[in-house]
Amino acid sequence: MMVQLDEKIEPIYQEVLSRNPGEVEFHQAVREVLESLGPVLVKNPAFAHHKIIERICEPERQIIFRVPWMDTHGRVQINRGFRVQFNSALGPYKGGLRFHPSVYLGIIKFLGFEQIFKNALTGMPIGGGKGGSDFDPKGKTDGEIMRFCQSFMTELQRHIGEHTDIPAGDIGVGGREVGYMFGQYKRLNNRWEAGVLTGKGLNWGGSLVRTEATGYGVVFFVDEMLKVRKDSFDGKTCVVSGSGNVAIYAIEKVHQLGGKVIACSDSNGYIVDENGIDLELVQQLKEIERRRIKDYTNYHKHARHIEKGSIWDIPCQVALPCATENELNGKDAKTLVKNGCIAVGEGANMPTTPEGIKVFKDAGTAYGPGKAANAGGVATSALEMQQNACRDSWTFEHTEDRLQDIMQNIHNDCFETAEEYGAPGNYVIGANIAGFTKVARAMLAMGLV
Ligand code: GLU
Repeated sequence: MMVQLDEKIEPIYQEVLSRNPGEVEFHQAVREVLESLGPVLVKNPAFAHHKIIERICEPERQIIFRVPWMDTHGRVQINRGFRVQFNSALGPYKGGLRFHPSVYLGIIKFLGFEQIFKNALTGMPIGGGKGGSDFDPKGKTDGEIMRFCQSFMTELQRHIGEHTDIPAGDIGVGGREVGYMFGQYKRLNNRWEAGVLTGKGLNWGGSLVRTEATGYGVVFFVDEMLKVRKDSFDGKTCVVSGSGNVAIYAIEKVHQLGGKVIACSDSNGYIVDENGIDLELVQQLKEIERRRIKDYTNYHKHARHIEKGSIWDIPCQVALPCATENELNGKDAKTLVKNGCIAVGEGANMPTTPEGIKVFKDAGTAYGPGKAANAGGVATSALEMQQNACRDSWTFEHTEDRLQDIMQNIHNDCFETAEEYGAPGNYVIGANIAGFTKVARAMLAMGLV
């Protein structure tokens, strides 16, 4: 089932497995990149000689720390915090923070590893990192969230800085959490250092379009893939998994481009609305009231909520997995292809399993892997850093234009690299090789560090 690794690369992968036991998501992410790199070593013998792949697979620094906090009942709670500073060849470490009970070192390393290549693809000067905690924000009061964020930042602050490492949000971390963390960083350091975190509020150093960026970016990327096929979103039926920040703005952009999203989900199931998802209602339920997507059916009686089963059973022409890793498996991919799906864009990180990716490849489905398709979020974070550095703030139109340009460039870079390496239309190979090569060249130039 799996693609054979190049004979020079297989031992590198085996070494990654034995050095990082039990970190299955990290293994999966590494393997997926390594599968593309055989021909790169043939073209660039210096990469092998200087052990660039081995070095990229080993994080520059990994920080694990205790996060003690007090809940509303006065009980002491303890969580574990992480920051993996993976690679700084192209710029300061950059990547989000995830607060979710599934978080452990292997998840943070998979995300940090993906982030290296994603950030390289943006063409902006940012290295790769990721962090988070096994803290579960679900059901917590606002006070608990604040105390947790303050405690988390009390330790993290000594490891970050605008020229060192710039965290942002990911699952479970949005504007509210970034605000509490920024406040604590500012208090402890006595520095109004705007560039230390991205995803900030608009009146205190944030950038317009940052909230929308990942979702818009995925749709821009898929639009480019469709254009190559002389097609567009106009009149297309789409399914978007998730109902968080990425999904919501992906839905908005699909609707702006003339497509119709008929299903979205949360961890308790999915809803189908054949009239097209009422985005205002989803935003009200999920962003403002923090309720379940199920409640959508209380307002629109014609819509259905399905608790069990897969959202990918709903026939569509474009599928945008925007929830979480490994949410779309081989069986789902087969169902999508059978039902006429022609394009897939990953808003989440690694949402498609290796079996699913293979199904799309064999079927000739346009498949945009997360590290390319969802790079709009971190790219707009880099635009936020630019605005912070020159104490400026750009208009929505200007920032969205920049985002669209960046997504077009990423698409073209992946497309052309895939052609160059004899794999036309294969965005997985294009993204992995284009991202890796940028980082590898910088590492070579900087010597053995
Ligand atoms: N968490 C997002 C990602 O997966 C954004 C990171 C950032 O803005 O630094 O790319």
